[in-house]
Amino acid sequence: MPVSLDKLCIHTITTKSWNLETATKKYSASGVKGISIWLDSAHAYKGGIKAAGEMVRSEGLDIVSYVRGGFFPALELSDRQKAIDENKIVIDEAAELNAPLIVLVVGATPGQSLCESRRQIADGIAAVLPHAEAAGVKLGIEPLHPMHADSRSAVSTMAQANTMCDSIDHSHLGIVLDVYHVWWDDQLEEQIRIAGEKGRLFAFHICDWKNQPEHPLNDRGLMGEGVIDIPQIRSWANESGFSGFEEVEIFSNKYWAMDQDEYLELIKQSFLQTV
Ligand code: ZN
Repeated sequence: MPVSLDKLCIHTITTKSWNLETATKKYSASGVKGISIWLDSAHAYKGGIKAAGEMVRSEGLDIVSYVRGGFFPALELSDRQKAIDENKIVIDEAAELNAPLIVLVVGATPGQSLCESRRQIADGIAAVLPHAEAAGVKLGIEPLHPMHADSRSAVSTMAQANTMCDSIDHSHLGIVLDVYHVWWDDQLEEQIRIAGEKGRLFAFHICDWKNQPEHPLNDRGLMGEGVIDIPQIRSWANESGFSGFEEVEIFSNKYWAMDQDEYLELIKQSFLQTV
């Protein structure tokens, strides 16, 4: 399936130094059609969250997702309840923005097993799903690379995410596929197919895994700069029925430090080159 800039969405964190209004205007002027808004950029918008959503749409951009909720597990029950309460606030904010999806970085807690963290994650998601459904907002579990299993995500694979979605079984719960986190998985094709069949492949995040990254978190590459076969993974997603935005989400000290207008051009070029 041909992909043009019409499917290109950028996460506000990617151009971190631009505030929401600047990012919106720059993306829109350059032909980008979608934006995924991180909490900090929405919170910093002076007119409030509802006005932020209106401003973005008035510039012709679709709001693809609100990033991020999650972090459900904790050693203490009171902290798990606090996480549930905070996620309900994030859901309310997504509804105010009129964002259809919240990306969940589900969390993990040092000092307890991954199995226990996964149980708490499932309990936390189940506790907030009625609130999400009432608000008209979907939740997407984003499996993170296992290097983050210590404290960011006890869900590392698409298979684990599919299993969790099966056990909770709710129309408003699905999966966010981020190539950076799951490109290495030998079950990836099969698990994308399953997610597609079950109507739960909600979002597709792209960037690249550089050979020998210089920083464990903040040295992600532009598409085509690293080792991920993005066209292959895209084709699996498309074959499974996914036709939504492709969301560029890059944490990079190097790219954050460069001229952001030039960087935006590089993002567009690298996106088109992987098509
Ligand atoms: Zn992502």
